[in-house]
Amino acid sequence: MTFIKTAASAGLALVIGTSSIMAKESSKFNYVVDRFADIEVLRYQVPGFDRLTLDQKKLIYHLTEAAIAGRDILWDQNNRYNLQIRSLLENIYKNYKGSKETSDYKAFVKYLKQVEFGNGIHHHYSMDKFVPEFSEKFLDAQVKALPAKKQPKNLSVLKKVIFDPSFMAKKVNQEEGKDLIATSATNLYEGVTQKEVEDFYAAVKDTTDLTPISYGLNRRVTKKNGKVVEETYKIGGLYSPAIERIVKNLEEASKYAENAKQKKVIESLIKYYKTGDLKDFDDYSILWVDDTDSRVDFINGFIESYDDPLGMTGNFESIVNFKNNEASHRTEVISANAQWFEDHSPVDPRFRKDKVKGVTAKVITAAILAGDAYPATPIGINLPNANWIRAAHGSKSVTIENITQAYDEASHGNGFNDEFVPDAATRDLLDKYLFITDNLHTDLHECLGHGSGRMLPGVDPDALKAHGSTLEEARADLFALYYLADPKLIELGLLDNPEAYKAEYYKYLLNGLMTQLMRIEPGKDVEEAHMRNRKLISEWVLEKGKAENVVELVKENGKTYVKINDYPRLRQLFGELLKEIQRIKSEGDYEAGRQLVEQYAVKVNPELHKEILDRYSHLDIAPYRGFVNPVYTPVKNDKGEITDVTVSYTEDYLPQMLRYSSDYSTLTE
Ligand code: ZN
Repeated sequence: MTFIKTAASAGLALVIGTSSIMAKESSKFNYVVDRFADIEVLRYQVPGFDRLTLDQKKLIYHLTEAAIAGRDILWDQNNRYNLQIRSLLENIYKNYKGSKETSDYKAFVKYLKQVEFGNGIHHHYSMDKFVPEFSEKFLDAQVKALPAKKQPKNLSVLKKVIFDPSFMAKKVNQEEGKDLIATSATNLYEGVTQKEVEDFYAAVKDTTDLTPISYGLNRRVTKKNGKVVEETYKIGGLYSPAIERIVKNLEEASKYAENAKQKKVIESLIKYYKTGDLKDFDDYSILWVDDTDSRVDFINGFIESYDDPLGMTGNFESIVNFKNNEASHRTEVISANAQWFEDHSPVDPRFRKDKVKGVTAKVITAAILAGDAYPATPIGINLPNANWIRAAHGSKSVTIENITQAYDEASHGNGFNDEFVPDAATRDLLDKYLFITDNLHTDLHECLGHGSGRMLPGVDPDALKAHGSTLEEARADLFALYYLADPKLIELGLLDNPEAYKAEYYKYLLNGLMTQLMRIEPGKDVEEAHMRNRKLISEWVLEKGKAENVVELVKENGKTYVKINDYPRLRQLFGELLKEIQRIKSEGDYEAGRQLVEQYAVKVNPELHKEILDRYSHLDIAPYRGFVNPVYTPVKNDKGEITDVTVSYTEDYLPQMLRYSSDYSTLTE
């Protein structure tokens, strides 16, 4: 649900070649923009933008302006000193006149790039505060060199924030037993304890309400005259200057809406930004999820609450996009045939659905990434988050194919395949078919997998408890894996080669048995549900196919490799495990589910783990990646009217950040 987060790691994408659905112009495109610390910055293309109508281009242009206008909100949400520190660092960078070869200066630039990437002083993924490698003396000297009006008045406080590792050490703490608010450095709470906040919401929440608002989604909680109060994000409230600018651009955008429905979506969002009323947000969300006809679409608002230690407040975020008609055809075909897939699935007929409805996942092209989706970005979105709206009105599920394509293309030649895929024939297969089969795997997983099967009457949907999400992901993955090898996909025109599925099978097992371990620290278990699911499936087929030598781990020159000897039999094994996991789910067989997870999904072989970390470290692949945005420029005639919007891909990483700070600052003095 919610965001389909990218694997964060370059290795997972493996290496992809050309396929029929990829833009041909991509081969000469320069994807890699910058590399520092544990980060690689890429750029993405926006294929098809030039072929949109002028009104669609204008609509997108104003929506992208509305997206970037919210940038400062996220920075301030992340930490109350972020905007001041950003100004200080950028002023020093622009004013610097010394040698650029000193270790202090290089460390300073690295730190600046890290802070820009984190939208603040903490790492976007680990949540840890960045550790500067330049000296306090260097900073002091640079501050002195600034013009007087650019020198911060609270330098000693900012220095403590930058240099004291124990002060505001973690952006979000989720370790139980401590006051999560006091131990988190986010700026969503001020001067209140966790208990006070919990008591506050316990008092205002109506637990009998079947259509509850998303309590606390758009506010900071603080105290006034000893009483706990919410400061609402809205025009006239907290972050007003930024929200005013967002609204101004939304108003411009609404003039170019593609249809009346979309115009209403934009107007209802404007209303919500004006009132701050979460009922208005629900109204907007319902209109948004119902608008499935427009080609252009966007999210703009306070959406995901992962960065609130109590899971309530949404980070500002915006993605503007338009439908990729050609690729969306894929998911439409799959959904239209949902009943066929259900009827032919290898599960016990008692657990099949009589009537199944596939979800149509749209494939989209991102035009801009902003707020919490920038520079690190998801590869898919499934919104809205409110459960009752999802139940009553459905949700929109999208995959952002120009982003996945950029990841894949940028992985070319990074050495990953040479290291982990021993034979040239398999590498060739991956080059040709991994991109398309990986996309199809995601489509089958999202459009059909999760929605397939049924529970026996009276079974508690939460019967599998803590193992529920691992087993649910495994069920959806197995459904996808099983059908990837089905001749039906050829018949439906989704694949052109009966051998193509082998690319995804190979990559899946390589990842599940070996390479995903590079994201686990030595000595630790596999925890995350998707990773557990992949390990469960891969280890299970390895063991069950042992007698017939279906899959094996072979050693050559001290290195371990995955070898698949019998692909058709492997497919049958996927079907057998799907059958068993569907039974576990349908019957609520907690004990059998627990055993599967504990036996196959959790424990790491320390020797193999060490070998993989070691091999991976020699590849110098950045563990995290993100993007710079393209630049949109309106072309105007003598009367000042926009006659076209052009898109360019030449802006580099720091220049883009500095431009955003100078052109879109709304909350700094
Ligand atoms: Zn899933």
